[in-house]
Amino acid sequence: MSNAKTEVHDLIRDSVRDLAADYDADYWREHIDEKRFPESYWQDLADNGWLGVAIDEEYGGEGMGMEEMAIVIEELSRAGGQGGIIFILTPVFGGISIQRHGTLEQKQEYLPRIVNGDLRFCMGLTEPNAGTNTLAIDTTARRDGDEFVIDGEKTFISSVENADKMLLVARTSPFDPEDPSHGGTLFLVSDPSSRDGITLSKLDTAVPWFEHQYQVNIDGLRVHEDDILGAEDQGFRLMFDTLNTERIAGAASALGDGLRAVDLAVDYANDRNVFGQPIGSHQAIQHPLAESYAKLLAAREITYSAASKWDDGQDCSMETNAAKLLTSTFSTEAASRAIQTHGGNGFTEEYEVFELWQNARVTETVPVSNEMAKNYIAEHHLGLPRSY
Ligand SMILES: Cc1cc2nc3c(=O)[nH]c(=O)nc-3n(C[C@H](O)[C@H](O)[C@H](O)COP(=O)(O)OP(=O)(O)OC[C@H]3O[C@@H](n4cnc5c(N)ncnc54)[C@H](O)[C@@H]3O)c2cc1C
Repeated sequence: MSNAKTEVHDLIRDSVRDLAADYDADYWREHIDEKRFPESYWQDLADNGWLGVAIDEEYGGEGMGMEEMAIVIEELSRAGGQGGIIFILTPVFGGISIQRHGTLEQKQEYLPRIVNGDLRFCMGLTEPNAGTNTLAIDTTARRDGDEFVIDGEKTFISSVENADKMLLVARTSPFDPEDPSHGGTLFLVSDPSSRDGITLSKLDTAVPWFEHQYQVNIDGLRVHEDDILGAEDQGFRLMFDTLNTERIAGAASALGDGLRAVDLAVDYANDRNVFGQPIGSHQAIQHPLAESYAKLLAAREITYSAASKWDDGQDCSMETNAAKLLTSTFSTEAASRAIQTHGGNGFTEEYEVFELWQNARVTETVPVSNEMAKNYIAEHHLGLPRSY
C-alpha cells in the first residue's frame, strides 16, 4: 500500500474513533433498552461523510471503496454499542446494490439521500421454508400490467420499523435447474412498516440491538415495475454480487467486536487485584488474550485483502468467506475469554462483555452462517464435491 493511502487510512481511523467517542455506554444502553434508532449517531456519521464513504462523488459520496468502509465499521464496532454492524442494511445493501445495479434515475433518487442520512433500508430475504437455501424462496411476484403483485412470507427481517425502503427478494419465474440463479427479482418497496399488503409481527430475539426482527407477511402487495432494482428475473445474481461486500462489512464488524473484547479484558486484568496482584500478571489470563489478539490481527489481514481485491475488481470470494469465518469465530472466542477474565462481573451489564459476546456470536450465523462460508471454500476453492 502506498504511503499516501496509509496516511488516509490512519486519518479515517482517528476521525472515526473521535466521532464514536461521543457515544458512550449510556447512549447505547438507552437506545438498546428502548429499541430506539440512534438518530444522532446516524446523522453524525452522515455529516462526516461516513455513510457515503463508498458512494461515488457525483452522488455526494466520498468516492472511496470497501477498504475504507471496512475501516469505518471496524473502528465503530471497536468503540462499542451496536457499532458498525448498522452499516450492513443501508450503506451496503442499499448503497452498494443501487450504485452497482440501479438505473440512472434510481441512483439520482436514492444515493444522495443515503449519503446525507435521509434514507434507511431493510432487507427482506430470509423465509421460514427456504432458510439458507435462498433459491427455494416461495414469495412470488406476479405481473399485472405495469405493476407486480407480491405474496409470501419473510422472517427475521431486521429494522423494518426504521426503514424507508425494503429491498425485497421475490420469485418472478419458477426454479429452472438448468439456470438456478434465474427467476428472482429485487424490489424496492417504500414505507414497509405502514404499507397495504404488509403485516409485521415482532419476533422475540435475545439480540442486544436497538432494532427488532420481524415476521413479514405479504399479501397482495403492489409494486410498480420502475421499482425493480436491476432486471426482472436477475435478482439472485445481483444479490450474490452484493454478498461479498456484505461479508466484508460483517467481518469488519466482528473484528471490531473482538478487538474491543480484548481491550476491555486487558483493562480489567490490569486493574483487578486478587491474591495481592493484578489478575493480568497470571499467564492463565494473559495467554488466551494474547492468542485472541494475534488471531484477530491475522483475520484483519485477510479482511482488508478481501476489501482491496473487491475495490480492484478482482475475484475476492475466497478472502471474503475466509474473513467472515475467521473474524466471527475469533471474535466470539475473544468475547468469551473477556467474560472469563471479568469473573462474575463478566455477566453484568456494566462491564458489557456478555453483550459483546452476544453480538459477536450473532456474526457466526448472520447474515450467512459459517457452515455456508466453509461450504463455499470447500466447493469453489478446494474443488470438493458439493454436499447439498
Ligand atoms: C438477529 C438476526 C437478524 C437477521 N436479520 C435479517 C434481515 O435483516 N434480513 C434477512 O433476510 N434475514 C435476516 N436474518 C436471517 C439470517 O440471515 C438467517 O437466520 C441465516 O441466514 C440462517 O438461516 P436460517 O435461520 O433459515 O437457518 P437454516 O437454513 O435453517 O440453517 C440452520 C443451520 O443448518 C446449517 N445448514 C443449513 N444448510 C446447510 C448445508 N448445506 N451445509 C451445512 N450446514 C447447513 C446452517 O448453517 C445453520 O447452522 C437475521 C437473523 C438474525 C438471527
